[in-house]
Amino acid sequence: MKKLIKIASAIVLLIAIIFFSFAPQYLDKSMNKVVLRETFPKNSFYNSISFIADLHCDALLWDRNFLNQHDYGHVDLPRMLQANLAFQVFTIVSKTPRGINIEKNDDHTDQVALLNFAQLKAPANWFSIKTRALNQCNDLHDFAQNSNGKFRVITNKKELQQYIDDRQKNHNLAAGMLGIEGAHCLETELNNLDEFSKAGVRYIGLTHFFDNEWAGSAHGMKKEGLTEKGKQLIKKMTDLHITIDLAHASQKTISDVLRLHNGPVLVSHTRVKGVCDNNRNLTDEQLIAIGKHNGLVGIGLWETAVCGTDAAATAKSIRYVADKIGVDKVGLGSDFDGAIGTHFDVTGLPLIVTALQKEGFTKSEIEQIMGGNIRDFFLRNLPD
Ligand SMILES: [Zn+2]
Repeated sequence: MKKLIKIASAIVLLIAIIFFSFAPQYLDKSMNKVVLRETFPKNSFYNSISFIADLHCDALLWDRNFLNQHDYGHVDLPRMLQANLAFQVFTIVSKTPRGINIEKNDDHTDQVALLNFAQLKAPANWFSIKTRALNQCNDLHDFAQNSNGKFRVITNKKELQQYIDDRQKNHNLAAGMLGIEGAHCLETELNNLDEFSKAGVRYIGLTHFFDNEWAGSAHGMKKEGLTEKGKQLIKKMTDLHITIDLAHASQKTISDVLRLHNGPVLVSHTRVKGVCDNNRNLTDEQLIAIGKHNGLVGIGLWETAVCGTDAAATAKSIRYVADKIGVDKVGLGSDFDGAIGTHFDVTGLPLIVTALQKEGFTKSEIEQIMGGNIRDFFLRNLPD
């Protein structure tokens, strides 16, 4: 009997070792696939673009050392440098429902808790959404600290301007900023916003895949608008110079924000119904209202956003937005590492430049779209 218990314990231990050693990386690899895994040539024009930027990447969700190069997933520091990507916003995903879809989700399940368990993160991460979100923020600061000066986190205008100046002299630098997908990580407490502000979060998407206490999601059960608490939240965000991100927000939430809030907004990763019609994407009226708010629209790379996955599909949506609200209000919002399949990882950005050239954009317009607009938006809207 004792022998049997010993054998059973050994088998359980072995299964646990195999699970915890391979499951997190297996999930990362299988959920962040790319079609093309090759070296993409960069021409002299591409290399000359001084500030390539992207509004949305979920790399911090995965158990990956950002400082090392990987042959899976979409973004890490060596690949950012290889791609001449100057600035990447890293967004915090803190709770996602099982059976995630763009039509209807409730908040009863929590896949990120399971992922954090499989990643062997400290138990506080399994049970507190706020803790796991703040820990992801801290991870980015730790990566910066250990990068030998190659990577920095931008939190205000002064740091951004300094970085722009430094990068003129040295292209071998990269920077990140923090954003949040879903204000549910505030755990219903408005004052928790202060902690995220201190941690460097500079935009917040009010909802992710389910309705929360602040606002309705495009993919929630009820899809309502801003709640009373949500109205307080956008006021406090404005006071702290944290930009509102309307990605994943319900139609009613988008209308409420655009009606009640005079300041700028962004849509960090989206597409437009005029090119690809589904309830995740923006209508022409919403686009125009965002334009009037001097906002910014980040165009994504994934299938449900663009009705296609290649660079040409992304460029087509960029053309649509530029024609509707101006070439100064559109940028990239790849959603790299957001549990999506893409045509290429970050090193494939030169393909987007080629596709934009085929759409007839001039070189200076391409410089704006590839990052100049994002740079200028945050130079205007970050805290001093
Ligand atoms: Zn998203």
